[in-house]
Amino acid sequence: MVDSYRPLSLKEALDLRADTGAMPFAGGTDLMVRYRYESGAIPDYPRPVMFVNQLDDLRKIRRIDHGLSIGAAVTMTEVLDHDDVPEILKEALLTIAAPGLRNTATIAGNICNASPAGDSICALYALDAGVKLQSPGGERIEPIYQFITGPGKIDLHADEILTEIIIPEDHSTIHLFKKVGTRRANALSKLTLSAVARISDSRIDEIRIAIGAVAPTVVRSLELEKRMEGRSLKEVALEAEDILRDYDALVQPIDDQRSTAVYRKRVAMNLVRHFLLGVVLQQKGA
Ligand SMILES: Cc1cc2nc3c(=O)[nH]c(=O)nc-3n(C[C@H](O)[C@H](O)[C@H](O)COP(=O)(O)OP(=O)(O)OC[C@H]3O[C@@H](n4cnc5c(N)ncnc54)[C@H](O)[C@@H]3O)c2cc1C
Repeated sequence: MVDSYRPLSLKEALDLRADTGAMPFAGGTDLMVRYRYESGAIPDYPRPVMFVNQLDDLRKIRRIDHGLSIGAAVTMTEVLDHDDVPEILKEALLTIAAPGLRNTATIAGNICNASPAGDSICALYALDAGVKLQSPGGERIEPIYQFITGPGKIDLHADEILTEIIIPEDHSTIHLFKKVGTRRANALSKLTLSAVARISDSRIDEIRIAIGAVAPTVVRSLELEKRMEGRSLKEVALEAEDILRDYDALVQPIDDQRSTAVYRKRVAMNLVRHFLLGVVLQQKGA
């Protein structure tokens, strides 16, 4: 027997979460699998579950100052249908499972599941996204790279719910999303690359490179990005091999049922090299 709640407002959901410790249940595509134990039986949840997918407050996509807010209960299909969502996030979502699953699964669930192979997560790192976390006592916003602390581990307090995903205005002039899997649909990532850059007057104004499934959390180096930002394409070209060596040191994959560490490392670094040398440094004026 599972205790389950269906709150009618966000306030009720936050109070329930604080009082009972119920697990938010959005699309259920991870939760149903994680706690299944027998075909046809109700999953064996260790705590009560609380359905959040019907909450109006969590079902909006709206423009905010300098960006976009995606409610935690908006499905992936609804995100894909929205004109203001950055292209790189849409490309990532289109590689997740198949349309039937995307009709119920949410980005919030993908983030809170915190798999190193979570495909929307990698794109959200490249977009410098944050998450809004609410509790009966207030709210806070945290960058996604701080919120996800390890495989399956997030910085979510016992009385909090993730309510919004905040994406800053995307000013990139180029982007690249690449998922490497066994096939194009219904396959989890062997590895993923999400990268964006803004180039103007032969200069890199902004660059963000995120690599998924090659370390316990998505690899993104603020330090290496700062090293390239504000510099001319020519200057970065002179240091490109050094920079690639530094990325190589950060990519520390493991062997598992989906791939080998050797394959992941080789292909991930080929993709980073392709983005930096083959895309960014090929822009006009390099
Ligand atoms: C067949 C299949 C194929 C898949 N393919 C892919 C794939 O290609 N790429 C990929 O990245 N993933 C894939 N997944 C994993 C899964 O579909 C995604 O992680 C999905 O985004 C989970 O979203 P959900 O809404 O269903 O989450 P749920 O299952 O409802 O929840 C997942 C976790 O997030 C927590 N949670 C949900 N909402 C909130 C909230 N608002 N606040 C706090 N915690 C919350 C839940 O408590 C739970 O711990 C696949 C899954 C299946 C079953």
